[in-house]
Amino acid sequence: MSKNRKISERTRKNWDYLVTHFTPEYIESMTDPKEYVVGFGSGNKSFCYLVEAGTKELGDIRGATSSKFGLWYGTHGDDKEVKYRATKQHFGGDIDKAFNDIKVALAKLIREAKDLTEFRDLKSLIYGMFKYKIIYLYNPNVMLPSFVLEDLQHFEDCLGLKMSKTFEKAQKELIAYRNQHFPQMDNHDYMSFLYTEFGRYNVSQTKEINEDADNQLNKKLLKEKEPTEEYVTKPVEKANLKKGGEGGLYYPRDPKMAAIALRNAGHKCEYNTSHECFIRRSTAIPYTEVHHLIPLEYHYKFEKSLDIPENIVSLCSNCHNEIHYGRDADKLIEQLFNERKDKLHAAGIDVTLDELLEMYHRIGEHK
Ligand SMILES: [Zn+2]
Ligand SMILES: [Zn+2]
Repeated sequence: MSKNRKISERTRKNWDYLVTHFTPEYIESMTDPKEYVVGFGSGNKSFCYLVEAGTKELGDIRGATSSKFGLWYGTHGDDKEVKYRATKQHFGGDIDKAFNDIKVALAKLIREAKDLTEFRDLKSLIYGMFKYKIIYLYNPNVMLPSFVLEDLQHFEDCLGLKMSKTFEKAQKELIAYRNQHFPQMDNHDYMSFLYTEFGRYNVSQTKEINEDADNQLNKKLLKEKEPTEEYVTKPVEKANLKKGGEGGLYYPRDPKMAAIALRNAGHKCEYNTSHECFIRRSTAIPYTEVHHLIPLEYHYKFEKSLDIPENIVSLCSNCHNEIHYGRDADKLIEQLFNERKDKLHAAGIDVTLDELLEMYHRIGEHK
């Protein structure tokens, strides 16, 4: 392990404790989920605590939702009872099953991570930022301590490189660039340098680009013909990010997906189907606007594409403006969320109402 001077004593201690205490053999033998989950307050140096807060200096993964751990101790969304909880998606909410499956998956992931000689995106039940940080903590020589694909793409872009589509490719490209241009820097120094120099991919910086993209999408739809194909709900792979004005990155909108969403809504306002809509001059179809219920600014929090009919709602002009700028926007969001959550789940997108409202409030602060 590289002994970096810039890492604090506390982080260094937590890191050493994690990798020496939580060996694959030890993880397999754990009998109390308390050793895994977070939520028991200070003094409990659980596996999740050490990977997340205990080594925050080596990369912050708190942006993801609490369910990233698969199993946690606390509240969930609107349910305020504090207890053990397992994700529905992977474990059907079954605590024992979750704990067992996670132990097996973790031990395997750590063994495979230790064996890597160059970075590879290991297949595991453990996923996303949490998985990447575990790989890094157990084998810091093979990857850069950044666990968000969009940050890596942002760095590639700033360095004049082509943006990679996958996390694995982006890691490899940036490491190759470092080996060529900054061979004296270790992985940690190099990442600190990139974050200091270029900052992170930032939701609020891309607000205007996203607003432009949404306006253009609604204009394009004026000319879009009524789609005739069936659309079957399934998780959809993400698209490549695009570069907007001022060089910021944004998630591209596919007019086909939006046109399907409008058709599925029967060109009515989905907040209240009795809202009156005027008729388009071009196609004689009632005019509604498309809105991404989970804002595309947050694409990086999800494994699958958000630009799908399940996440696109049809709104009358008034409701569309209200959901963006209205004092009572939360009530529109809540109703639409309740109508869409099962479909979103079927498309591989899981989010709670609280998490969704928080996303809107964060964007709203920058308006
Ligand atoms: Zn909108
Ligand atoms: Zn409406």
